[in-house]
Amino acid sequence: MPTKYIIVTGGVASSLGKGIICASLGRLLIARGLRVTIQKLDPYINVDPGTMNPYEHGEVYVTDDGAETDLDLGHYERFLDERMSQKNNVTTGRIYFDVITKERRGDYLGKTVQVIPHITDEIKSHVLKLGNSEDYDVVLVEVGGTVGDIEGLPYIEAMRQLRYEVGRQNTLSIHLTLVPYLAAAGELKTKPTQHSVKTISEIGLSPDIIVCRSEHKLDTGIRRKIAQFCNVEVADVIESLDASSIYEVPLLMQREGLDERVIEKLGLPCKNADLKRWTEFVDRVKYPKHTVRIALVGKYVEHHDAYKSICEALIHGGAMNNTRVEIAWVHSDKLGDISAGVSEDISAGDNDSFAPLLDADAILVAPGFGDRGINGKFAAIRYARENKVPFFGICLGMQCAVIEFARHVAGMEGAHSTEMDVNTPYPVIDLMSEQKDVEKMGGTMRLGKYRCRLAEGSKAFEAYGAQEIEERHRHRYEVNNELRDQLEEHGLLCSGINPEKNLVEIVELPNHPWFVGVQFHPELKSTVYTPHPLFVKFVGEALKYAQQKVAAKSGEGSWDRSGDGSDLHSEENIGR
Ligand code: GLN
Repeated sequence: MPTKYIIVTGGVASSLGKGIICASLGRLLIARGLRVTIQKLDPYINVDPGTMNPYEHGEVYVTDDGAETDLDLGHYERFLDERMSQKNNVTTGRIYFDVITKERRGDYLGKTVQVIPHITDEIKSHVLKLGNSEDYDVVLVEVGGTVGDIEGLPYIEAMRQLRYEVGRQNTLSIHLTLVPYLAAAGELKTKPTQHSVKTISEIGLSPDIIVCRSEHKLDTGIRRKIAQFCNVEVADVIESLDASSIYEVPLLMQREGLDERVIEKLGLPCKNADLKRWTEFVDRVKYPKHTVRIALVGKYVEHHDAYKSICEALIHGGAMNNTRVEIAWVHSDKLGDISAGVSEDISAGDNDSFAPLLDADAILVAPGFGDRGINGKFAAIRYARENKVPFFGICLGMQCAVIEFARHVAGMEGAHSTEMDVNTPYPVIDLMSEQKDVEKMGGTMRLGKYRCRLAEGSKAFEAYGAQEIEERHRHRYEVNNELRDQLEEHGLLCSGINPEKNLVEIVELPNHPWFVGVQFHPELKSTVYTPHPLFVKFVGEALKYAQQKVAAKSGEGSWDRSGDGSDLHSEENIGR
């Protein structure tokens, strides 16, 4: 069977959730036994999002092979439970970069290099690379941006050409639009959809299926109208209502018959979708038995997309514990300075901005760059360490935990990372040796998958249940091996080490119920079907903390936070 290509475009407005629709359709097709991947075509001129501000673009999603990609690839992995790679994300910057490199090399033999055919050929070659790999029955291509944008035109044109090259019967065009509700008129409006479909049809990619985002149900009349004006059958008008969880979308799309229409039109021989496991997961997300509050401390907290994968990994970990995770967003900038002996101050409620920390059942300090809000991170970590609140530090969060420990436990006054203070007397976090001569910003960090060996008996070892693991990285700094002994002498356990380079990957505190910092990004590998063990354990510890707090308040139990924490994962808590 030739590979099938499903091209997904969006119109009317941005942020309609094209990525989630693609990921949901991908999940439905996989559930039918097909081999599926998704490729995102991004119209911006950056070669990759690696150099973009998180406020601008949200999280940078890193793949195993070290590609810095669009956050939609995170959704693809979480929904498909399949690994993505550099091949799954293409940007205009990358396309032009490659075409110009070829031109400089003389590859075009003196021809004038033009958008058509050179740029469009380059775009198609990226799509066909996945399709011709023989690894997939279906390649879903998500065209970023909104139809009508100047930047998106070469992509639409390339997809129009692709349909003829691989045969129309092997391709399908799906268009996602918005059907707004006009309260004053008391009705849903189809005109924006008609216009959007008209625009995309004029440039040669008329849709076979129209997915309509809407806040209200589409009745038969509306569906008929859209079908009639947009040249599709009524059954090809798919309603996409707001869902309480993104993980519900595959179920809603199945109910609307999206996958059914797709396989019929493409003539895909396949079984019915088995979504039992998925449905169980969604039930656990929607109707959990417990709730915990986790404080997420970072400097981009106004923009939740900057921490997308962390939020999703907490949902996965929560589902495994039958627990809803409420995130208390804490701006590290507002937590102030710790020099005044923060534990006493904040327990006394001196500082209002600490309130979410005092309420929290666990504290997570997020990844990041630069020194803005750094003291607030130290304050939150010190509070978690001294008060035995479950703590999870990720990348910069882990580095801050090492600095805080150095300063307040190991007696290394003024300890810091050379990222923030090059003159620190104790550079406990320092630039990695291979980073010292790096001058360019893009794609030059320690990126992608690296091995890590775990210390037996450690909390990390217990969580993973394995001796060796692989995790994804995105950083330039590391724990300074020259000061490691001094930290270990005072009780810091370096429980995960990269065997090739002897780099510290995980630190923890044995005399704390759960205090773990990781140099890598575990959130990037958490999926619905493979929730990340550290997130499962972290939420479990938060739940245990919450239950101890309640028991202590009602006078039933002792408030014992001295130990190393017994296993929380009782059958009852896991709810399996
Ligand atoms: N800024 C730190 C480094 O480069 C941490 C990076 C991160 O949190 N992703 O090492």
